[in-house]
Amino acid sequence: MSLSFDPDSLALPNGHFIGDRLVAAEGVIPMHRPSDGKTYAGCPIADAELVDHAVQTAKSALKTSNWGGIRPRERLNLLHRWADLIEQEAETLARLEAISSTRPVGQLVAGDIAVSAEQIRFFAEFADKEGSDLVPTDDGNLGMIMTEPYGVVGAITPWNFPINMAAWKLGPALAAGNAVVLKPSEMTPFSTLYLAELAVRAGIPAGLINIVLGDGMTTGNAITGHPDIAKVSFTGSTRAGSAIMENIARTGIKPMTLELGGKSPQIVFADADIEKAAAAVTASITSNAGQACVAGSRLIVEKSAAGPLIEAILNRMKSIVPGPTWDAASQYSPIISDRQRQRIGEIVTASVAAGAECLTGGNSMDMPGYFYAPTLLTGINQTSPAVIEEIFGPVLTLQTFEDEEEAMALADHPSYGLAAGLFTSDLSRAIRLTRRLQAGTIWVNRYGRSRDHILPTGGYKQSGIGKDLGREAFQANRKSKSVLISL
Ligand code: NAD
Repeated sequence: MSLSFDPDSLALPNGHFIGDRLVAAEGVIPMHRPSDGKTYAGCPIADAELVDHAVQTAKSALKTSNWGGIRPRERLNLLHRWADLIEQEAETLARLEAISSTRPVGQLVAGDIAVSAEQIRFFAEFADKEGSDLVPTDDGNLGMIMTEPYGVVGAITPWNFPINMAAWKLGPALAAGNAVVLKPSEMTPFSTLYLAELAVRAGIPAGLINIVLGDGMTTGNAITGHPDIAKVSFTGSTRAGSAIMENIARTGIKPMTLELGGKSPQIVFADADIEKAAAAVTASITSNAGQACVAGSRLIVEKSAAGPLIEAILNRMKSIVPGPTWDAASQYSPIISDRQRQRIGEIVTASVAAGAECLTGGNSMDMPGYFYAPTLLTGINQTSPAVIEEIFGPVLTLQTFEDEEEAMALADHPSYGLAAGLFTSDLSRAIRLTRRLQAGTIWVNRYGRSRDHILPTGGYKQSGIGKDLGREAFQANRKSKSVLISL
């Protein structure tokens, strides 16, 4: 059966998921489909009272199931069963995701959903392998670092990869023995609601995963400020991350992981494989229409290689064919909202007014929905809005350099440090510059994540605090206690 679907006849879950069921709620925030602009649903807003109900449900589920205290292998087995169900229900999940988000349904089953199931299994494996440590002391003492779950973790996710971002939060928190209250983006809640339902069907004790819908101001603040939420894990913009820090500082200090925005450079030297670099650079800024935290939005190329590289990128950008997310053949995504599309246009216009040249794109696409053409801007300087701002759209800026020093100076962003790409055939240079680049992830002669989930992801500078993925994400969901016993 084709994955394509009719968006007008898809049944949508309606409400919050608390305990073992959907709690019906009135849709308040109008939801528009990015692929055709149609208003098709409303997202409820959980107030402080409802968030408290979710937190108390999580606390009591932790107590009655003894989730943090059962044999770790049992947690592992249940998480594996959940991952199996996610794979079995991948088509339903894919449609629930594709209707509201920018993710084409044809890319979800083998892409985001398969990867999410794999990552949940990856985190499950830590449950019975990562433990407390005995530490060296003198003969008169026994020292250990004992770890234990936090209790209830509050998680908040963005709209750009809804299932995958939920898996990054739920997987490690549950494997480490916690319960979770998670708020997905108010623009893309449906697939996350279904993930929670599948968890209960897999046998994960009801109440360990609770999904509350709503906006940042009401629901988000109620989560981050709740006294019984012991830790906060957030992925989203630097602006919202900063507001969350403020709210946590005001309402009671607690640990937090913040995965925030980026403005990642890709540096191409003339000795690189130019075709390979062009493919990686173009994919990184056109995949999900550039709406990825690690989008490689700033191309910095050695002057002598600029001509062939530009030509190869333009060929690729011009051959991209957009289509609605519910068509299984669609490859190129719409922008999430009309407002966001306007913002992209404004930044491009301001950059052109400041002297940039637009080699392709720079316009909305003439079709229903919020599509924006892949765009390449040259003749741009370091203070141009298109170089400074996280555009979160398919806009690539191009700057040239003469030597390594100039490349490093251009690559350095005043506030972001999420990822960076480096293309060169000179191994010494690759290692030398990898050491200098100020970013949490460096890709050399490739760009974008692999399925090596052991590599953590996280930002330098204002791109974040702490890590998702990797052993670090599991460890960040447990607190440690130092114990010294006199013998
Ligand atoms: P956003 O910050 O607007 O919203 C993210 C989530 O936070 C949503 O659920 C939103 O409702 C909630 N929120 C907003 N304000 C809040 C507040 N004051 N308190 C609590 N919750 C609040 O981001 P977005 O537009 O959904 O997503 C795009 C952003 O996410 C980009 O900046 C992107 O770089 C970033 N992102 C980062 C990573 C990463 O791993 N570093 C991954 C994906 C996306």
